[in-house]
Amino acid sequence: MTAAAPDRPDLRGLDRAELAAFLATIGVPPARSGQIFSLIQRPGVRDLGGLADLKRPYREKLADRASLSSLAPHAAECSEDGTVKLAFRLADHALIESVLIPTEHDRHTLCVSSQVGCGMGCRFCLTGTMGFTRNLTPAEIVNQVLAAIDYMIDAGMRRSTPREYINNLVFMGMGEPLANYRNVVPAIRVLLDDLGYDLSRRRVTLSTSGIVPQIRRLAEDCNVALAVSLHAPDDALRDELVPINRRYPIAELLDACWHYLERQNGRAVTFEYAMLDGVNDRPEHARALARLLRGRDAKVNLIPFNTFPGTRYARSPEPVIAAFRDLLMSQGVIATIRRTRGDDIDAACGQLKGRVLDRTQVRLGRKLLGVAVQA
Ligand code: SAH
Ligand code: SF4
Repeated sequence: MTAAAPDRPDLRGLDRAELAAFLATIGVPPARSGQIFSLIQRPGVRDLGGLADLKRPYREKLADRASLSSLAPHAAECSEDGTVKLAFRLADHALIESVLIPTEHDRHTLCVSSQVGCGMGCRFCLTGTMGFTRNLTPAEIVNQVLAAIDYMIDAGMRRSTPREYINNLVFMGMGEPLANYRNVVPAIRVLLDDLGYDLSRRRVTLSTSGIVPQIRRLAEDCNVALAVSLHAPDDALRDELVPINRRYPIAELLDACWHYLERQNGRAVTFEYAMLDGVNDRPEHARALARLLRGRDAKVNLIPFNTFPGTRYARSPEPVIAAFRDLLMSQGVIATIRRTRGDDIDAACGQLKGRVLDRTQVRLGRKLLGVAVQA
């Protein structure tokens, strides 16, 4: 990776307004900020030396006073279904992961991390068992997207805009994005900016375990799609599975979600629900869940639980998951079952832990993605 110099701001993580403010401090006219912003965020630009299209005096000023970090996967692992897990070693040697998931019509979803580890301690989540190490910077979040695009280019893909590489972005990797609000929101601004990655706000989804004040704040700051990790229809059970519920119980959480819906004119709120055998998967749970969500612009995404060594939970059997979905639908709540992707390489929800992988797997991953892309 190319690291940022500690005394010079890392331009990768600055949104357009922040960049303009910084440029003013070093005597670059604000009128230049759009051009410089779009050059910086271009795939393939890995450091300030890559800004060949910028006039020399500006380039020299930037090289003198700023830095531009990038990330290259330290390893990549390919699943049989085409999912690729990219592992990154950060400047302080912390490991994070992003997951690139091919979807239909040659589209790709990228799942990014927002923290190293996670402090929320959800009982059924491997990342939760690691504890919290640190927040990612805006640049480290943006760099995951850039690195995934670079990876696809290296694999032989050719597209004309970033959005044609990554058309869906989800904050569902390691970490609780709303616990890193001050870095996640600027990163999202860079990713949505039409001179940046120009991602569609309807196709950027932030998933949260339910930090209520930050959901309300997000409703004012950033109009992206919201997913909420509910996992239980009553406080007693949710207190146990998602400990943040003790601070922000279900009624408060749902109020914040309905407020979010009012403020943004986008997509329905998605409620994620990991199906845990014998724990939250009975018909009475489905009925209670339907009572909470009926009549709202909400949908439920049932996630077959992904097991990991040492967990006390097991995945609900398929017919139980299907019956749970059918019961929700019969009660007027839209429900889908998430197709589990990449579970053979531990890239599925809740399986990210930052393992060290073999370097040769990067090459193998590229090759497999190339095959998948051409197929
Ligand atoms: N921290 C955020 C986003 C990351 S997790 C959040 O909790 O929403 C993405 C989704 O996977 C969340 O709904 C999470 O609860 C769920 N998840 C975590 N561990 C899981 C597991 N082992 N099996 C299935 N889903 C899991
Ligand atoms: Fe953190 Fe989300 Fe895992 Fe909970 S489910 S521990 S919030 S990553």
